[in-house]
Amino acid sequence: PGQQRRPSAKAESFSFEQIGGQERAKQELIEALDFLVKQEQIAKLGIRPLKGILLSGPPGTGKTLLAKAAAHYTDSTYLAASGSEFVEMYVGVGAGRIRDLFKEARTKAAKAGKNSAVIFIDEIEVIGGKRDGGQQREYDQTLNQLLTEMDGIHANEAPRILLIAATNRKEMLDSALLRPGRFDRHIGVDLPDKKGRLHILNIHANNKPIADNVELEKIASESFGFSGAQLESVMNEAAIYALRENEERIAESHLSMAIDKVMMGEKTDRESTR
Ligand code: ATP
Repeated sequence: PGQQRRPSAKAESFSFEQIGGQERAKQELIEALDFLVKQEQIAKLGIRPLKGILLSGPPGTGKTLLAKAAAHYTDSTYLAASGSEFVEMYVGVGAGRIRDLFKEARTKAAKAGKNSAVIFIDEIEVIGGKRDGGQQREYDQTLNQLLTEMDGIHANEAPRILLIAATNRKEMLDSALLRPGRFDRHIGVDLPDKKGRLHILNIHANNKPIADNVELEKIASESFGFSGAQLESVMNEAAIYALRENEERIAESHLSMAIDKVMMGEKTDRESTR
């Protein structure tokens, strides 16, 4: 069956500086990546190599951005997939896709002359959710294939595979995935605090004309509880309000309306999923 994957051509040029807030997550991820780079030393000291990094936290907090930045930081090829791509009606197809993903990563990195490839799997809980009695065999085969691939990752192979997974529901993950030698580095990616929100707003305001009297700090205070993705929407919606009013610059009123709109949008989303 045809495999759909979105190759992210721009991933290699995405850096940690373009991610707002998330200072602790960035620092922990960089530490883990630095550890990965010291392969030779690690092998000599007999340290168990790091196999996988798990990013967990609410939707829209920048987990995908962190994985892309990790690829840039380590000068790796980047491949992304989502857990839901591996769920198939037919037994064995999901497992085959996992195998292909790892194979493709190695081939792509080798072709590009890179020493490593970052494989990012979003929604890992779809593949690696907790087993309960009657669950389908297909899920097990897919998870088993992922575990086999992880066991096959070696510190001194070339190109080296850096596996990063993300989940919004870490508590749902099967313990087989969280065991030492599997996803043994966990990084929490939480909703941004006020300073983080201001940083994110500034990043997304960068390509927009903002009126001189707008205090983004005030907008950061008013957007308590917003994720990075929601803050990006706020800036975008504000620009649309400005356009509607034929204004050349985004004013504070546009931003306030945008905050309300994004907040309302969330509410209706939640109500419709009830
Ligand atoms: P999900 O769990 O839904 O997959 P995620 O945590 O992977 O979400 P991203 O896909 O990384 O979230 O973020 C979505 C979009 O939100 C980004 O493309 C970006 O525009 C914006 N965004 C999120 N977090 C940040 C951040 N920390 N700094 C700047 N922009 C951000």
